[in-house]
Amino acid sequence: MNKVYCYLCDQTNKVAIKKEEEIHTIKGTPVKCKVENAYCRQCGSKVYIPALNDANLDRMDYTYRRHNGIITVQEIEEILRQYNIGAKPLAVILGWGEVTILRYLKGQIPDRAHSNTLLSLKDPYVFFRYFKEKQERLSPVACNKVVSALEGLNAKLAGDELHERSQHLRQAYRRQPDIYNGFVPFNLEKMVQVILFFLKSGDRVYETGMNKLLWYVDMLCYKRSERQALTGLCYKHNIYGPVPLWYDYLYGSLDDVYITLVEDEYGTQIGALADLSADVFSNDELDVLETVANNFKGWSAKKISQYSHRETAYRQTTNGQFISFEYARELSLS
Ligand SMILES: [Zn+2]
Repeated sequence: MNKVYCYLCDQTNKVAIKKEEEIHTIKGTPVKCKVENAYCRQCGSKVYIPALNDANLDRMDYTYRRHNGIITVQEIEEILRQYNIGAKPLAVILGWGEVTILRYLKGQIPDRAHSNTLLSLKDPYVFFRYFKEKQERLSPVACNKVVSALEGLNAKLAGDELHERSQHLRQAYRRQPDIYNGFVPFNLEKMVQVILFFLKSGDRVYETGMNKLLWYVDMLCYKRSERQALTGLCYKHNIYGPVPLWYDYLYGSLDDVYITLVEDEYGTQIGALADLSADVFSNDELDVLETVANNFKGWSAKKISQYSHRETAYRQTTNGQFISFEYARELSLS
């Protein structure tokens, strides 16, 4: 890319490539992104280089998706490869229009609901559930290809203890999106990362404290997004405050893999065993995590518990009752 035609100079000149920050609007959202622009060395005006422009558009698209937690084209391609399924058959088993996924492969940005569904397919267990329900709609050839891909994956995953445990957890928390899980299906990866997020400073957090932190994260996410929680967990009213459904089982399943559990005179302390991978979160989700972390920084489990007792969501429910995300509107944090 030594010389490029400059309209102003009416000749081909050498160009200088500058890294610049630009804001473009994608789907109504302003996206700030570092791009590369070319300038004529002779007159200093901007010159157009198609390859550079394409690369900039790709960067914008990628930044938009990253910030909003939207699946990328590469991730969709990876899912098709993983299950040896075509874009059309996949659309069929998801109950979508035949060309929906083809459009996404060409770069159309999926809405959040479709994106979440596609992301959940990374888990073979989730994929299998969709496949089982609609497989008779596929051609025998397409069906066989998927079956052998799944067999291969199963052979690879069998005996993997983590896989076993996560399957059990997913089965336990499986629930249609509704007002009690904040309209998101249970997301094991995000839930684990939320827990690790609160342990990242090396602090140990008691189970009773972590229960509240999880609840505040989901409620605040729901409040800010106006209809979407984060982890897909359901919460119940417990005498010490809101707690995730079957939280004992939950932490027990993660023990020795992601976290450590140590009993002491005050309760069960949770420590981190795995590293945090914050890239599962969108920027908005990270903001929620930071807000909750800052609000409760240095608080004892008892103090958080007492604080949670003043929430409308807690006052309006009784022991053992599920806590609806309707109350998120009145959450003390915002
Ligand atoms: Zn020029």
